[in-house]
Amino acid sequence: MRRRTLLAAPALLLFPRAEAQTALPVVASFSILADIAKQVGRDRVAVSAVAGADVDSHGFQPRPSDVEPIARAAVLLRNGLGFDPWFDRLVQASGSRATVITASEGVTPLMTRGHHHHDHGDHGHHHGEGRRRHHSVEPALRPDPHAWQDVRNAMLYAENAARGLAAADPAGADAYRAALAAYRGRLQALEEEIRRGIATVPEARRVVVTAHQAFGYFGAAYGVRFLAPQGVSEHSEPSAAEVARLIRFIRAERVTAVFIENVRNPALLQRIAQESGARIGGRLYSDALSRPDGPAPTYEAMMRHNLSLLVPAMRGGA
Ligand code: ZN
Repeated sequence: MRRRTLLAAPALLLFPRAEAQTALPVVASFSILADIAKQVGRDRVAVSAVAGADVDSHGFQPRPSDVEPIARAAVLLRNGLGFDPWFDRLVQASGSRATVITASEGVTPLMTRGHHHHDHGDHGHHHGEGRRRHHSVEPALRPDPHAWQDVRNAMLYAENAARGLAAADPAGADAYRAALAAYRGRLQALEEEIRRGIATVPEARRVVVTAHQAFGYFGAAYGVRFLAPQGVSEHSEPSAAEVARLIRFIRAERVTAVFIENVRNPALLQRIAQESGARIGGRLYSDALSRPDGPAPTYEAMMRHNLSLLVPAMRGGA
């Protein structure tokens, strides 16, 4: 930073102030959102994610060192829909007065109820509290936070991010608008690619088993039924009866698409696959990107990677 300032100093005499400014510091709660912000911010922004590659954001435990980048950021991006309440607490702890953008603003949320005995987490309380609170009552309907799995929602995320960047950096407004337009075009192509890919699978074969219910929006948008032993946000083990029911379903329906996820321990799914005779079709990226050298370093790469696994697995031997 210091060296850069020294090198830039002579330029201050020749160019308007904006030309010498360093990148706008932006912090997103998780990796997928950070990538979307990068796509619309390009070289005007320096984006980091609190929950990085392959990290599960549900019930994420921030470190004290996560506060400082947030305190320095000019724009803060949260998913909302109950996904990242820990990020809101970090922002509060940081004393930041930066622009806070809710990426999911404008999304029509899918509502879920989940299983009563391991329903928790969407309001940031712990397992024990959740169990006590919901033990004898029907759990309230809550929004499914995984809105980015529908590409049209990712477009909303990008629009919201661009709006936040332009508010904090008005000199870059035109650049953000142009980058957003280009990104929207690529997302439109991605959306069509997903629809074409799913269309090659006979409707009756469009059934997938994953580790947790992260693909509700994907399923609703593209016509695929997703089943999972774990619900929308919790980590607790499903009951033996629930696992047995899922195994019976996989056998009866001859489900050929069974996947582990990058943010979840694969043990449960491996057991389910073994007992049902299904084959694990690979690792889906649900709630976090891969590292840069992995198969899903950007949102677009993540969606294409998942599609490339889902389609052949659903088609099975057919
Ligand atoms: Zn999730």
